[in-house]
Amino acid sequence: MKPLEFSAPTTLNAAIKLYSANGGGAGLMAGGTDLLVQMRSGRAEIGHVIDLKRIPELNVLSYDKKRGLRLGAAVACDVLGAFKPAKAAYAALIEGAELIGSTQIQSRASVGGNVCNGSPAADTICSLIVLGAQCVVKGPQGKREIPARDFMVGPGKTALRKGELLVEFRIPPPPAHSASGYLRFIPRNEMDIAVVSAAANITLSANGKTCTAASVAIGAVAPTPLLVEAAGKALVGSTLDEAALEAAAAASRKAARPISDMRGTKEYRTHMAGVLTKRAIAMALQRARGA
Ligand SMILES: Cc1cc2nc3c(=O)[nH]c(=O)nc-3n(C[C@H](O)[C@H](O)[C@H](O)COP(=O)(O)OP(=O)(O)OC[C@H]3O[C@@H](n4cnc5c(N)ncnc54)[C@H](O)[C@@H]3O)c2cc1C
Repeated sequence: MKPLEFSAPTTLNAAIKLYSANGGGAGLMAGGTDLLVQMRSGRAEIGHVIDLKRIPELNVLSYDKKRGLRLGAAVACDVLGAFKPAKAAYAALIEGAELIGSTQIQSRASVGGNVCNGSPAADTICSLIVLGAQCVVKGPQGKREIPARDFMVGPGKTALRKGELLVEFRIPPPPAHSASGYLRFIPRNEMDIAVVSAAANITLSANGKTCTAASVAIGAVAPTPLLVEAAGKALVGSTLDEAALEAAAAASRKAARPISDMRGTKEYRTHMAGVLTKRAIAMALQRARGA
């Protein structure tokens, strides 16, 4: 058995220093629900675990009508789920976070860990994309922001540079008459990884009839989650009738480039990308109309 070092820094700068000093041998741990599984299975060779849960900047959770939501990268999913101001304003994100694993998993797992793990099937990334989240990251070279749509760059790979860590998400306040929704398909009722997922965020005109802005993202159908811009465009200006929803679904099917594996064939995943696109939009529409 190899010796394992463990550190729990209490400042962001100390964590960055420690991470850089350990080169590739250190692993950042938020909840550890991905990291520890990967270490035990031998997929991650780590000699030094750096616990991020005690760093105040990574535990920020606040909502302001002007600035929107600030969500620290290490905040546990159940803490986010219990944060009342976020419930209606960021429904898609809460929906994704509350689908992760079980109650026990959600009491450790973070949205930050979910996206830093880099899985295109992660349950929070599509929602972060359609909600226009910015990922605030910091490393030895300073702070910068990465739009959530650009954060994952390949399976297990993110846009984080050497020595950088994710600090928090900043999500703008939702416009009036807007709402979002997230759905995934899994063959079981729970405790499974998305075969396909979709999130939608729509804004309606003041009379609630016409769509004035829309964003759709799909997951588990490509090496990274996809923002389907053509799906959003198909909705804007429409009354979100069946024809518009079908056009958005067709755009998602066209954008999807899935693989076949034991959880679904590429044909099935492509079909489901369209189905879930329609349903996520319908969900968001129902919420935006206050039903
Ligand atoms: C039983 C079980 C069920 C699960 N079900 C689901 C599910 O339904 N849906 C789903 O999407 N996932 C699921 N997962 C995977 C996992 O729980 C989630 O991805 C979770 O959100 C990871 O968060 P974490 O805080 O535990 O991350 P960690 O395990 O702590 O970290 C994950 C990765 O991100 C890195 N990292 C963490 N924080 C940072 C940071 N701030 N900056 C830079 N890098 C960082 C770590 O080094 C590691 O590589 C499941 C896992 C288990 C064990």
